[in-house]
Amino acid sequence: KSRLLDPIITEEGVGSNLKVSPGDAASIASNIKYHAEFTPLFSPENFAPSKAFFATAQSVRDALIVNWNATYDHCEKMNVKQAYYLSMEFLQGRALLNAIGNLELTGEYAEALQKLGHTLETIASQEPDAALGNGGLGRLASCFLDSLATLNYPASGYGLRYKYGLFKQLITKDGQEEVAENWLEIGNPWEIVRNDIAYPVKFFGKVVTGSDGNKNWIGGEDILAVAYDVPIPGYKTKTTISLRLWSTKVPSDQLDLCAFNAGEHTKACQAKAKAEKICYILYPGDESEEGKILRLKQQYTLCSASLQDIISRFERRSGGNVRWEELPDKVAVQMNDTHPTLCIPELVRILMDLKGLEWESAWRITQRTVAYTNHTVLPEALEKWSYDLMQRLLPRHVEIIEMIDEQLIGEIISEYGTSSPEILKKKLAAMRILENLDLPASVVELFAKQNVSCVDETVEEVDSIVEVKTTEKDEKETPKKKKVVNKEPVPLPPKMVRMANLSVVGGHAVNGVAEIHSEIVKGEVFNDFFQLWPKKFQNKTNGVTPRRWIHFCNPDLSAVITKWIGTDDWVLKTEKLAELQKFADNKDLHIEWTAAKKFNKSKVASFIKQRTGYSVNPDAMFDIQVKRIHEYKRQLLNILGIVYRYKKMKEMTAAEREAKFVPRVCMFGGKAFATYVQAKRIVKFITDVGATINHDPDIGDLLKVIFVPDYNVSVAELLIPASELSQHISTAGMEASGTSNMKFAMNGCVLIGTLDGANVEIRQEVGDDNFFLFGAQAPEIAGLRKERAEGKFVPDPRFEEVKKFVRSGAFGAHNYDELLGSLEGNEGFGRGDYFLVGKDFPSYIECQERVDEAYRDQKRWTKMSILNTAGSYKFSSDRTIHEYAREIWNINPLQIN
Ligand code: PLP
Repeated sequence: KSRLLDPIITEEGVGSNLKVSPGDAASIASNIKYHAEFTPLFSPENFAPSKAFFATAQSVRDALIVNWNATYDHCEKMNVKQAYYLSMEFLQGRALLNAIGNLELTGEYAEALQKLGHTLETIASQEPDAALGNGGLGRLASCFLDSLATLNYPASGYGLRYKYGLFKQLITKDGQEEVAENWLEIGNPWEIVRNDIAYPVKFFGKVVTGSDGNKNWIGGEDILAVAYDVPIPGYKTKTTISLRLWSTKVPSDQLDLCAFNAGEHTKACQAKAKAEKICYILYPGDESEEGKILRLKQQYTLCSASLQDIISRFERRSGGNVRWEELPDKVAVQMNDTHPTLCIPELVRILMDLKGLEWESAWRITQRTVAYTNHTVLPEALEKWSYDLMQRLLPRHVEIIEMIDEQLIGEIISEYGTSSPEILKKKLAAMRILENLDLPASVVELFAKQNVSCVDETVEEVDSIVEVKTTEKDEKETPKKKKVVNKEPVPLPPKMVRMANLSVVGGHAVNGVAEIHSEIVKGEVFNDFFQLWPKKFQNKTNGVTPRRWIHFCNPDLSAVITKWIGTDDWVLKTEKLAELQKFADNKDLHIEWTAAKKFNKSKVASFIKQRTGYSVNPDAMFDIQVKRIHEYKRQLLNILGIVYRYKKMKEMTAAEREAKFVPRVCMFGGKAFATYVQAKRIVKFITDVGATINHDPDIGDLLKVIFVPDYNVSVAELLIPASELSQHISTAGMEASGTSNMKFAMNGCVLIGTLDGANVEIRQEVGDDNFFLFGAQAPEIAGLRKERAEGKFVPDPRFEEVKKFVRSGAFGAHNYDELLGSLEGNEGFGRGDYFLVGKDFPSYIECQERVDEAYRDQKRWTKMSILNTAGSYKFSSDRTIHEYAREIWNINPLQIN
């Protein structure tokens, strides 16, 4: 009973793109049995699916560990420059099928499990989703890891090991309910706890200045961050990189043994509970002061532990000859949004306070090491922290941020001079890291001399209670700000630290995630910085891994593609997908293409039956909108469009209905942030509309409305391959990129969407004829909102008709006033339709009529579907990662002779 997988790994070529020689099914089966017997996590008497999953995963892990160690050894020996991707979120989903697929052992594992009395599908479905993220941003990080490993880049990810992942969503008659997701309950076979890799992290305390003038931060609360490593295999390569997740615990010397022995158990365990709760959940609510502190502790834990790890690796690899100026030649740190911004002051602190560097060198090195990816252009979504709170929790970091702010003020003054104090004042107000803090005395004096007030008279005032979540950029309520000129003196606004400004100032590169988004970043959100440092700003259009998102989740379509292109190289070189264009009219391809789609649709129909009890017709058009529930993503526009369709159907005879409408199954999926009330109202409304329509005998299979509960990566892997139309209908200018739009296009789904985020580039690539476009465009939005606010907007009668129909009780007696009111003026519940649902409604429903017409012509539709897959090649995360590697990180693929 030796570890039978070991011999399949040979010593040649980590990173050389060599195929791992396959283990045979018999030895794999024997290895699985070995783990079932000797891994004492389950009782020995049975070999139930959960145990079989665990044993199978451990047998795969054996293979991964060999490659992972070899990759690490190689990087260690060659001392190559490495990229480190820091992210508060990784939405990994399941790992088993991905790992054996990347190792090219899927067939062998399926056969081995069959020998043991199981199917691979059943065993794979035992695995809980690793949902350490909310949505696009976290899934992007996971796609990047797959591409980094596949392309043999020396890189790793750093995140937090949350005990509870994103909540499980239940759909009840009241809408969404949240239940804690204990994804680690049965253990996690993929992780390797590294008790030897643990770093102290401290909070609170004070800064003392030594007799030499050096600063020393003495923490008031100490914890330990312990590494849990998850090996990430590349596809058809031995390169296996790390996702290092930090878990927090109390240092062992902190257990209050005296108190414990005296029977004061709670008191004795207080420090332990405090330390462990840092990694309890993803995005703890931050309404309360305690909640805010917890989130900031999470962010700092990620930054501090990861940087200590990176620095200690750098020192070790320097072999006793540490030259700090060379740190940026060995290390690239990428911050996924502003959540890891504390990396900047933390790196400065380590370099100055612990390594003895001067401020100038520490600052220069930090700037050359760190880069920042922006994920939102909504000004109200840019992360800010209370200065006072941060000063309490991280006193030394705030001193460093003040130094950075002062340095920035100096740069602004030297760029704009002092001859136009009004311009200077504006620039300082927009660009400073510290908001509402006093200016340095020299600047105050300057303004005083020129008779310019230092106080900003024009303040932004919130006109009613708005939920502001500092780190959930995705989850904000409608911003409700208006500019007012205060005649009376107002209380001083709170002092804040602007994390995005700190990221822009502290990094050497700032990138947006789609072309239109990067233009808005440069032209609006960070325009002042762009004018100062134009070269810093870049675009890196997002991408998704074609392994998980076509090859493994859609094996039938993948086989058809391989057959017609003549090779499966496209999985690595997605540009080959373009070759499908020449067969777009081929009848035989059409037959195979639709058969694959049909098969995927049947699987989804069974899944829907099992999850919701509804039967749907797999011959109807599958029309899907799955993503976080948010007002800007406009699920409300979709469902109101469905209501309109339903109303029209009801007004017709059966024959008229069937002649006019294409049968559709309209699916929604997605979670609403637990405290985002309006999003939860939308979920409830969708399920109410479904409950009425799905039981209406006049309608039958012509229209079904399904809310698929608990949308996550695994559900996405099932739904996306079965989709025919997918909806990406955000208010133009509000979606930074979107990534599910790319996955849908890759899987031969036609998109209906606005010119927003990556939709713009998808439409360019797949062709205007193969994308259903509607709606107002980004440059018009501000004007339209203004017009609306001035009462000049005249709603389309069809929009009024739909709202009236809902209010008439067509979907039950529930009161939808708050929901519908949000689409109306500013009276009562009215919130002025900030997301312009009413404005885009007529153009949306007219576009949906064009969709029906196109779908009726199945030949035309199949061609559109093929051309979507063929045109999606740009959206591989391999392309994105190559761009980051070349243009930001300056790293090279591993090369071994
Ligand atoms: N949630 C999950 C589970 C996903 O897989 C994805 C991307 O495919 C997203 C959220 C992001 O979706 P979108 O880009 O539509 O916002």
